[in-house]
Amino acid sequence: MAKVLCVLYDDPVDGYPTTYARDDLPRIERYPSGQTLPTPSAVDFTPGHLLGSVSGELGLRKFLESQGHTLVVTSDKDTADSTFDRELVDADVVISQPFWPAYLTAERMAKAKNLKLAITAGIGSDHVDLDAAIQHGVTVAEVTYCNSISVAEHVVMMILSLVRNYLPSHKWVLDGGWNIADCVARSYDVEGMHVGTVASGRIGLAVLRRLAPFDVHLHYTDRHRLPEEVERELNVTFHPSAADMVPFCDVVTINAPLHPETEGLFDDEMLASMKRGAYLINTARARIADRDAVVRALESGQLAGYAGDVWFPQPAPADHPWRTMPHHGMTPHISGSSLSAQARYAAGTREILEAWFAGTPIRDEYLIVDRGKLAGTGAHSYSVTR
Ligand code: NDP
Repeated sequence: MAKVLCVLYDDPVDGYPTTYARDDLPRIERYPSGQTLPTPSAVDFTPGHLLGSVSGELGLRKFLESQGHTLVVTSDKDTADSTFDRELVDADVVISQPFWPAYLTAERMAKAKNLKLAITAGIGSDHVDLDAAIQHGVTVAEVTYCNSISVAEHVVMMILSLVRNYLPSHKWVLDGGWNIADCVARSYDVEGMHVGTVASGRIGLAVLRRLAPFDVHLHYTDRHRLPEEVERELNVTFHPSAADMVPFCDVVTINAPLHPETEGLFDDEMLASMKRGAYLINTARARIADRDAVVRALESGQLAGYAGDVWFPQPAPADHPWRTMPHHGMTPHISGSSLSAQARYAAGTREILEAWFAGTPIRDEYLIVDRGKLAGTGAHSYSVTR
């Protein structure tokens, strides 16, 4: 019987919700690519309820315990001698969400002698040292597509809110003011702007599709080119690299995975090559941008705004400079953890566990590392250092 260690974010400060703002979720059968939503044999939760926090337990307890497995749930992952570190020693399976990542470093993996499976309840497995997973024969899986549209919606929201100066204007209302000039002195229309995405995978393409009706000029770069008919439909211009693309753009959105190719991509040099007053939105991974270079670019006016929901480390310390830098629209890491997304990735996590315990194959699109090498989606989207 397996020990499943699940690291989840804390419950709300007022306690686990007993009521919700809405009564149901829209019914979605398939993702835009045609991929089906998760297909576990059953779920033991109500879609639309909070599942990603400690008391939500991703809806897994009944399922796991009914099969004789042990489920340990904790949010304590970063302190010296954390519950995560203590429980990891004999855990067979670790589950965590990118929003509250259990960093499975090479050091931790070496101590976790029983570990066989690391599941990301969400998308993005860079909190797992993939080289070490390959070395130790640990399978890594994530719930591909579960929150791609959730993130794309967040990106569009952040582009509009930065360009139109929404957050400072809202603050004037909260403060009792009616300071039109203060609000509009940094407010522009998105219409006619050049907007580029670094990567046009599930999220990047969804962002392009959602922005097209705003009558903007669309640009993208990616390792693989979009089909010709999609380029034509969206009237989107391809550039061979981010460096080639960004000088043309008023808005840049980053939608690539963090891997050796993309780490630190937006450094002082890249930021200096952007148009003065450009906006940068990063909901991919924090370390794709150089933390201090972003602060410098905002302070000098090279960037007019920066927004995103990804930080390093997570949770971000109280003195993280992105909390206080000028003209930012940061949120905690929430874009992919809407209640809608949680229902999908909780079901996907259960689907992966059901397959694992039954000894049947995990869907190829969920696999990142399997049998000692990058596999499935991982083989396509990630790279390793050795
Ligand atoms: P996809 O795998 O669908 O798309 C990623 C794309 O990035 C692929 O097209 C890939 O190209 C491309 N790519 C990889 N390396 C580079 C590079 N060096 N330059 C340009 N393009 C590159 O992923 P998603 O769209 O689903 O997600 C993108 C990222 O967003 C995830 O990796 C994750 O880190 C982040 N994310 C964030 C979330 C959040 O909550 N904020 C939630 C979900 C994801 P190729 O086709 O050649 O592999």
